[in-house]
Amino acid sequence: MSDYVKILVAIDLSEDSNRILQRARGVASSDTAELHIIHVIEPLSFAYGGDIPMDFSGIQDEIYQQATQQLERFAASNGVDEAHRHIVMGRPEVEIHSHAEELGADLIVVGSHGRHGLALLMGSTANGVLHGAKRDVLAVRVGGQD
Ligand code: AMP
Repeated sequence: MSDYVKILVAIDLSEDSNRILQRARGVASSDTAELHIIHVIEPLSFAYGGDIPMDFSGIQDEIYQQATQQLERFAASNGVDEAHRHIVMGRPEVEIHSHAEELGADLIVVGSHGRHGLALLMGSTANGVLHGAKRDVLAVRVGGQD
């Protein structure tokens, strides 16, 4: 049996999310271990910066609302109550680390795709989370590639 009593699970709302949550449940110390889920929304301004002179606020609000609804559905169908759901704006690796710190989590669980070529060079959220982690990180293999 593992020692993990407070686990933060990073959820990108893809179809892999169920598997990642199940793996997190599998390594929890017991049924009373706390399981938190986090979804991070990257502001469009991070991607487009000042390159496009456009007001993104309407689109950003829409993205936020849709992600909130999706996370609520995911959490409800997996028995994760409101106090254990976190939805925030920012860079995924930064927010995942800072929430893990805030919560005092002893494990972070992320999905990890086998990457090739350019995607490998560009790195991944799992790499970003692993980098400088102050607690254990479980990278759950997802995506079905070699
Ligand atoms: P990626 O590197 O983007 O393919 O994502 C790999 C894993 O990182 C996902 O399976 C999630 O566990 C986590 N992740 C990626 N993006 C996000 C996000 N926006 N919010 C929370 N977790 C994320």
